[in-house]
Amino acid sequence: MTRSETLFERAQRVIPGGVNSPVRAFRAVGGTPRFMSAGSGSWLEDVDGHRYLDLVLAWGPLILGHRHPEVVEAVERALARGFCYGTPVEDEVRLAERVVQTFPGMEMIRFVVSGTEATMSAIRLARAATGRRVIIKFAGAYHGHADQLLAMAGSGVATLGLPESPGVTAGAVADTLILPYNDLPAVQAAFDEHGTSIAAIITEPVSGNMGVVPPAPDFLPGLRTLTTRAGALLIFDEVMTGWRVHPGGAQALYCVRPDITCLGKVVGGGMPAAAYGGSADLMRLIAPAGPVYQAGTLAGHPLAMAAGLATLEVLGRPGVWSAADEWASAAGAAFDGAAVRYGVPVCVQRVGTMLTCFMTDRPVRNFSEAMATDRGAYAALFHGMLSNGIYLPPSALESIFTSSAHDAEGMERLEAALDATFRSHAGMTTGVRAGTV
Ligand code: PLP
Repeated sequence: MTRSETLFERAQRVIPGGVNSPVRAFRAVGGTPRFMSAGSGSWLEDVDGHRYLDLVLAWGPLILGHRHPEVVEAVERALARGFCYGTPVEDEVRLAERVVQTFPGMEMIRFVVSGTEATMSAIRLARAATGRRVIIKFAGAYHGHADQLLAMAGSGVATLGLPESPGVTAGAVADTLILPYNDLPAVQAAFDEHGTSIAAIITEPVSGNMGVVPPAPDFLPGLRTLTTRAGALLIFDEVMTGWRVHPGGAQALYCVRPDITCLGKVVGGGMPAAAYGGSADLMRLIAPAGPVYQAGTLAGHPLAMAAGLATLEVLGRPGVWSAADEWASAAGAAFDGAAVRYGVPVCVQRVGTMLTCFMTDRPVRNFSEAMATDRGAYAALFHGMLSNGIYLPPSALESIFTSSAHDAEGMERLEAALDATFRSHAGMTTGVRAGTV
């Protein structure tokens, strides 16, 4: 038995499914999750001493790769002074200032610990600000695991075959309307029917939790127009897309300004931090400035603030973000090239440093199309690549992430692994589709 197998057996006795977040368990692709023990740049090492090119990067945060020296130094400096104080600290002011400079729609922000908290708090704020109750979310979008948002929630939930979770009451999602992503007429129809009750639309501006699905050209501007006209708010959940699809997030890339932005992942540089923000008028509704309660013992944690600040500082230098972007573009071309060479139908969808290789011969525009891709073929791709030293997301409905640390050596490894994998699975289609993996 490998050490990962032994640890997984022990883990399953004391941790549900052996993991602390479902997708880590490899259920969508089968096999034993690798227990990682170290990361350096774009490389991961597992407890059995295997080395992998990391294309998951902790699910997005590590946009500079593992252990960037300046991030390590910043965290060590903060650590030498103390862990946390439960008081304001200078770094949270500096990080807040940096973020509001980057996202013009955010005049003020509040730090929280996880993306789940950011979206949950954003919705409370939207309901308080509008005095309305209904929230629109899109099928296949994941906004964390708050009850009200845990309906048709993309990769993790879909992978498990749970349309919604037991324990979430009908009441909790009664005010959540689920619509198909990229379907503006459906949104228009919802406003026609429920217009005066709709508090907000929450959307991943580029979907990452059904795999990478970009917005149709009219989709985000259409959401902006419809919400403004109806007096509802537009919430961009940029927990994944922030700094990843563009240095200014999806709102800069598509020139659409939301009322509330949620951030996570990159903002903490690999430490637990997330945030939500909007205009000063809106944010002054939050306690203690206003009546909308929201709090957190570890919010604005000094180590996370230090890691986030250092990450954004390095990322802002010329050539750093574009290195991750260019590597992602080359990776997309490598997937495409190998697929063409061996006659495997794939559709690579990429926005900036996020991409997905869907096992299908047509574009994926929404959740039902993502679910109709050949997920059995993805499992074969995943394991082929894993045995050739590439760590892909262990689910067909997730995004690959790249970093500024990915380099020519990594690209060579990727190309060789793709060649070996696609060669041994020529014609890689299993006919295994939604719900059967
Ligand atoms: N929103 C989006 C778009 C996400 O991708 C995620 C997590 O992957 C979340 C919210 C939840 O963030 P967290 O896992 O930090 O609670």
